[in-house]
Amino acid sequence: MSPDRPHHPSRRSFLAGLATLATSLGVAAQQPNAAPKPPAPPQDPFPGRKKVLAIGDVHTGYQHDSVSHALATIERLGRQSGDFITYIKTDTQLITKGEVYGTGRYAAPPAGTRRTNAKNLDYFDAIFFFGLGEEELSAQQKADLLSFVHDDGKGFVGAHSAIDAFYNWPEYGEMTGAYFDDHPWGVMDAPILIEQPTFPGMKQLPPQFTLRDEIYVPTNAPYSRANVDVLARLDATKVNLKVSDLHRTDNDFPIAWVKYYGRGRVFYSTLGHLDASWDDPRVQQMYLEAIRWSLGLTTYTPKPHPLRSQ
Ligand SMILES: [Zn+2]
Repeated sequence: MSPDRPHHPSRRSFLAGLATLATSLGVAAQQPNAAPKPPAPPQDPFPGRKKVLAIGDVHTGYQHDSVSHALATIERLGRQSGDFITYIKTDTQLITKGEVYGTGRYAAPPAGTRRTNAKNLDYFDAIFFFGLGEEELSAQQKADLLSFVHDDGKGFVGAHSAIDAFYNWPEYGEMTGAYFDDHPWGVMDAPILIEQPTFPGMKQLPPQFTLRDEIYVPTNAPYSRANVDVLARLDATKVNLKVSDLHRTDNDFPIAWVKYYGRGRVFYSTLGHLDASWDDPRVQQMYLEAIRWSLGLTTYTPKPHPLRSQ
């Protein structure tokens, strides 16, 4: 530090700083067992950007081969569009509004002395969920997830097996709008009808088309057209209704829907079983627009409506 530089700190403040430093070091040395300071909020390396927490935790159920590619595709779509940053996680640790700790010296104080830099739900604007099974969330984590959508007005985008999850947590089914019953046709060339072409994720699609995927059929409840706005459905006139494991009798086989949950925006689509599904530009565009909508980057008001004959 040269005294010739115009804005150097004064010698007085420099000495005062040294004294403060010495004092704090002395205090630390005298109190080796003092409780560590509470962790500071982690820094935001992407200030001003929307953040998506993409979760592919499948360790409690069937493990789709497409999950890795799905999460990687969502991450890429977010980066390329410039619309959002994605944190990919294969566990549900960040589904919390509390502090996130690790183990050993990253454990919660007083045992741990290091910070994990982990974000929590408060950092994120939407969840993209391609999990399956009962998962392992504490009661507090469940409450935090519901609050994230319902009270904070954030987004939840469920892919394929997202409704084949948390059967023992009815509020989750209420939030997503349905539980999985079966996929009676397996992987099929699915004839699809668009019901809501004004939804941003449907605009680019023709009124009718065929797409190869595994179509889930929801159970009779909680799925209800009174609660969800079905954006697209399977064309029941073009599929075999005599297959075993088909339990619905109303021929209502939704492909995608949106709904509000409290202040939050929820999207679900059955598409995504196949690895190749995520390379299909139609599927990519649908999920990209679904996430954009869930983030509030586009506007569309869900309009629940009955099944129309077509
Ligand atoms: Zn599947």
